[in-house]
Amino acid sequence: MQVVQSPRQMNDAIREERRKDKSIGFVPTLGFLHEGHEALMREARRENDILVVSRFVNPTQFRKKAFDVYPRDAARDNEICARNGVDYVFAPETEDMYPYGFDTAVEVRNLTGRLEGAKIRWHYRGVTTVVAKLFNIVQPDNAYFGEKDAHQVAIIRRMVKDLNFPVKIIGVATIRANDGLAQSSRNSLLTKDERKAARKIPWAIKEIAERIKLGFTDRAALTRGLIGMIESEPGLKVDYAALVDPVTLRTEDHGGETMIYAAVYVGDKRLTDNLIVKHGCATGG
Ligand code: AMP
Repeated sequence: MQVVQSPRQMNDAIREERRKDKSIGFVPTLGFLHEGHEALMREARRENDILVVSRFVNPTQFRKKAFDVYPRDAARDNEICARNGVDYVFAPETEDMYPYGFDTAVEVRNLTGRLEGAKIRWHYRGVTTVVAKLFNIVQPDNAYFGEKDAHQVAIIRRMVKDLNFPVKIIGVATIRANDGLAQSSRNSLLTKDERKAARKIPWAIKEIAERIKLGFTDRAALTRGLIGMIESEPGLKVDYAALVDPVTLRTEDHGGETMIYAAVYVGDKRLTDNLIVKHGCATGG
């Protein structure tokens, strides 16, 4: 396994692999890897000759304070990558990705504004810009994204289609801890009490899923119910919650699936979770 910092060197290595006709699988991450990331790596490892994982805490998708406290552990990440059969870890520094004079942004205009995107448009602009750069550097055939970040997957799919990136986007189901909480690097920032409180998020989402399966259709009432259940737990404050179509991310009525989505402050940490409910059965998310 090689750890590469320079975009130029990464791109040279990929071109060499491509000359040998190798297929490239890519898992972009912010690092501080956990079982969710490993699920993406496993799938990518199975389906490609060469596996590249990037580790980059992208400053343009964070508020300064959240960027500063984001957990980092390069040595541990490299170990996890090595045991998952990664060929290249691409770990640039901020200056490598945003050198002096950097002045371009990639934005998916309408989809970005759905869900809570209107409030954090700058965040998704940061994500699409960095993912576009990573795709150009790594030139993957297949790129793997977690459905935990459903809004992100939808936006990336749109960007790839609109800008003709020659890459297939593969969504991977959410990996959860034993207590039901979706695995997230941010979970490591939670105190013991916050962690306990946070379990209410997946619990409440599941409750709403059950109601939908029982035939409840009043979205506004279900959303109020979701917020009420989450906020009945001291220490939890819903930043945004909605029931939407999982493809269009619109709240109006649609076909046979609903995504239950919540972004919740646990203390000053913001966690997101979602579940997609089909008519008659809950899946993925
Ligand atoms: P992050 O490092 O948080 O940006 O995550 C990198 C990738 O891993 C993204 O595509 C995430 O959606 C995905 N991911 C994060 N947590 C999970 C999880 N619990 N299950 C599956 N995928 C995840």
